[in-house]
Amino acid sequence: MSVATESTSTFESLNPATGEVVAEHPVQDEKAVGEAVERAREAAEWWQALGWKERRVRLLNFKGSLTRNLNRMAELIHEETGKPVQDAQLETIMAITHLDWAAKNAQKVLGPRSVFPGMVAINQKCVLEYQSLGVVGVIGPWNYPIFTPMGSIAYALAAGNAVVFKPSEFTPGVGVLLAELFAAVVPERPVLQTVTGLGATGGALASHPGINKIAFTGSTRTAKKVMAACAENLTPIVAECGGKDACIVDADADLDAAADAALWGAMSNAGQTCIGVERIYVVDSAYDAFLSKLTDKAKDLRPGFDREAAYGPITMPGQMDIIERHIKDALDQGATAVVGGAESVRKPYVEPVVLTGVPDDSSAVCEETFGPTITVHKVKDLEEALEKTNKTNYGLAGTIFSGNKARAMDVARRMRSGMTSINAFAAFAQVAALPFGGVGESGFGRIHGADGLREFTRPKAITRQRFAVPMNLTSFSRTEKEMARILQMVNMLHAKHYKR
Ligand code: NDP
Repeated sequence: MSVATESTSTFESLNPATGEVVAEHPVQDEKAVGEAVERAREAAEWWQALGWKERRVRLLNFKGSLTRNLNRMAELIHEETGKPVQDAQLETIMAITHLDWAAKNAQKVLGPRSVFPGMVAINQKCVLEYQSLGVVGVIGPWNYPIFTPMGSIAYALAAGNAVVFKPSEFTPGVGVLLAELFAAVVPERPVLQTVTGLGATGGALASHPGINKIAFTGSTRTAKKVMAACAENLTPIVAECGGKDACIVDADADLDAAADAALWGAMSNAGQTCIGVERIYVVDSAYDAFLSKLTDKAKDLRPGFDREAAYGPITMPGQMDIIERHIKDALDQGATAVVGGAESVRKPYVEPVVLTGVPDDSSAVCEETFGPTITVHKVKDLEEALEKTNKTNYGLAGTIFSGNKARAMDVARRMRSGMTSINAFAAFAQVAALPFGGVGESGFGRIHGADGLREFTRPKAITRQRFAVPMNLTSFSRTEKEMARILQMVNMLHAKHYKR
């Protein structure tokens, strides 16, 4: 359910392509957020008490409801973000896949299991289980307004928590609809609520003492503010932030496939993708052929709001200035625009821009651009490509195209990122079983997969003594002889040298 508000103020969500008002939503103030958290606390206890099987059924029904409303959701995402309807459908399908996986795997990953106690504690029965935290606050971005928050919402709910979701002010309707669909299958308690508003609403959620964890997705700058607010109550946080991801193209790569994937990675969703390709490093001998394929394809792309458009407008008006600055900065420093140029920035659209000869220290290479622009660099070999890829404070994801499996795996392992996709773009995002998250300025903690489920729990260790051992070492009745015997045993077990 979305929260009924007593607040007097409202804000409008706008269609970024047309400027038309999509809907008006309440600005939930600190009091309204507090009330939502209080309701969630009670709902969390009820949800937790339902048990694994009942929660699984409810979440699978939530999935069914979302699937039946897929087109309605996609149209709303299209209107609020401006992205093509098909991209919005694809995003919703990915969200559905994650919801399905989280619902079906929660008990297996988190439920009680026996652990071997070891020789010293052989008389103990040991149980490990992962318990829900209580109330999880989810703060989401606008660029993938259902896929991204669902990576936290589905996993937090499946782990037995209640969720209070604050969507971006640019995509509040998606959050409201999501909570409505959930309430239709779980009408008893407000287990998933959406609070709408601006940054301050997110701030109120992060600083509320009743929140047991914050799952934040957004910019690194805001993540730091959210962490500071959370520090007040020692509230833990998982932070999914921005990136400056690279695509590496090896000399023996399938260049058609590489150009196709890199272009999609760079330009789809108008380049507003946290794991989007922002830099391409191509090994010398493949550079000319690759660039020619990439530019041929890029020239065909047209932004717009119609059904045939390749991608939509820039969703957040403030981003236009950043994109323009990065292009101008690169050109001022001697770069060449092989597709588009400074004139490609035409509010609210940015036409495709492909830049070459961009200095490594320019903002187009160092900062997250979040637009349909790409810098292409010639490197002498994979080592130089990797070195340049890793020369960023971000570390979210990356792509490698290579004809050599072993070489690609080696580079993937050494890439400083949370995820790497070989010979495809961002395949890991579609695999619900794999964890998603970054390193460095791209954040910490993981959503998706088993790690994503555990992220919203606390491990609980329980031991039960099955029988008393003859030697009780943790008793004041312990004798010297018993201690000597145990020391002898430890020596036998652990003192030896191991040979290779
Ligand atoms: P922002 O950081 O601007 O906002 C993210 C969320 O935080 C929004 O809901 C926003 O609300 C809220 N917020 C703003 N100020 C505060 C505050 N002081 N306290 C609490 N919450 C606050 O990011 P964007 O929405 O612009 O998203 C784009 C960024 O997200 C990019 O950097 C992108 O790379 C990253 N991203 C990362 C992903 C990942 O998984 N790693 C996935 C998708 C995006 P409001 O909108 O109302 O201001």
